[in-house]
Order: sequence, then C-alpha cells, then structure tokens
Amino acid sequence: MYLVFDIGGTNTRVAISEEGKSLKSIKKIFTPEDFDQGMKGLKQVADQLSGGEEIKGVVVGVAGPLDKEKTTLIASPHIPGWVNKPIKPSLEKIFNQPVYLEHEADLEGLGEVAFGAGQGYKIVANLVIGTGVATTRIIDGKIDQNALGFEAGHQIIVMNGHPCDCGGFGHLEAYVSGSGLMKTYGKKGEEIKDPKIWEEVAKYLAIGLNNVVVFWSPEVIVLGGAVMQSIPIDAVKSYLRKVLTIFPTPPKVVLGKLGDDSALFGGLQLLME
Ligand SMILES: [Zn+2]
Repeated sequence: MYLVFDIGGTNTRVAISEEGKSLKSIKKIFTPEDFDQGMKGLKQVADQLSGGEEIKGVVVGVAGPLDKEKTTLIASPHIPGWVNKPIKPSLEKIFNQPVYLEHEADLEGLGEVAFGAGQGYKIVANLVIGTGVATTRIIDGKIDQNALGFEAGHQIIVMNGHPCDCGGFGHLEAYVSGSGLMKTYGKKGEEIKDPKIWEEVAKYLAIGLNNVVVFWSPEVIVLGGAVMQSIPIDAVKSYLRKVLTIFPTPPKVVLGKLGDDSALFGGLQLLME
C-alpha cells in the first residue's frame, strides 16, 4: 500500500493507493499551523486509512518552494510554521520508508497532465488559484527542470501594489487568490457575488497569463483551484487576447478537471514512474 499526502495552505488531503495505479479513500483534514501538530495529524490519518497494512512508499506534496535536497520548505506564505522544519526526515521516521517530497504546485500540474485537462500536450502551464496561486510548467509529462522553482503567482503585475502573503507587493497572488480577495474585499471568494469584482479579477489574471505565455511558451494553460469556480474564464480569455499582442493567437486556456485532488493524482503519477 502507498500513501499520498497533499499538504496545502489550508487543507491537507490524504489518499491511499493499493497498487500504485489508482487512488482511494481520499480524506481531508485542516493543515495545522504548527509543524509537530501536523506530523501527529498525518500519522493519525495514515493509520486510519491503512488499517495497519504495510506501507511501501510515501509521496508528499507541500505548499511552497523546497530546498535543493527536497527535504523541507524554504518559504511558505500560508504555512510559515512548517518552513525549515525537517519534513522529509520526520515522515521517514514515522513511516519507516523513503518519502518523496515535492512542491504541491508541481504535483498539481503533473496530475492534470497525466490524468486531467493537460493530457496530450507537450508544454503545459498549470495554475491553481486557491488560498494562494500555485504554478508549474510540465514538459513531456515531467516537471520541467528548474533552479529555484516555478512561482508565477509571485510575479509583479502592479508596481507598489497590494501586499502579498510572501512579503512582496503587487504580486498576481494578491489580486486573484482567496487570501488576496479576503484582504481586499473582506470576504471569501465564494461570498463575493458582484460580477464587476470578478470582471476586475479576470483582468488581473489575464495580465498574469500574458506574462506566463511570453516567458513559458505553453501550448495550453490549465487553470484550477477553488477560486476559478468564480472567475469568469471567458472574460480571462478575452482580456488575454487583448493584452497579448505579440502572438496573433494565444495558447488554449482550459479549466482543470481534477479539482482539489490534482496534487494527489500527481503523487500517484510519481509512484507509477
Ligand atoms: Zn507574493
């Protein structure tokens, strides 16, 4: 039996896979702010799901860029209590198995390419707009090589603009993510009903996508995450056509298909590899 964890900024999802080919028993818990609490919570839910069966492998996605050795987070706007904590060694001790740690954003992209909306494309940009904005670039079905990680959510779209949870200003995440909307409008994304606000958010997202296109040259942009259920995708596409003047035809922009489970599917893909 294999375990796949997706430790997000707000929620943690856990699934088991019997043979490393499909997922079952997906469970959701709140991600504790405290690292030690988090480790206890993961062990508890894993014990429940596995029912004492032998664990053969563990894949973990965690929300934020990792150190070079992929053992811990080097930054994380939404779970700062986990930064620089021994995530991989602690989990290896708990499960007595090698643990593969990846950036949650990379697993989300991998999941959409292997099982979802990115299937059949060679160059995919995946953006997940939830608590934050998680991004990655997948080439030929693999997480593209990178020196520091893919953090297009922290591109500056407005000089001296709104504060971002990472400490910067004017970042895409501050204008389109759940945490950004909460700061600007004092409401959760799903509570915002004014179409004018969503039109505005669509414009900011289109500017971000323009930059993704000119730097990453994707065949397709896959947009997932809870906030994408409210951002009008047709408006995003229409603004993107207006601002992206260097290419006559923008790449395809499509909605993700796997919802909040995309990182779990990415973890499954890693197990299969
Ligand atoms: Zn930022």
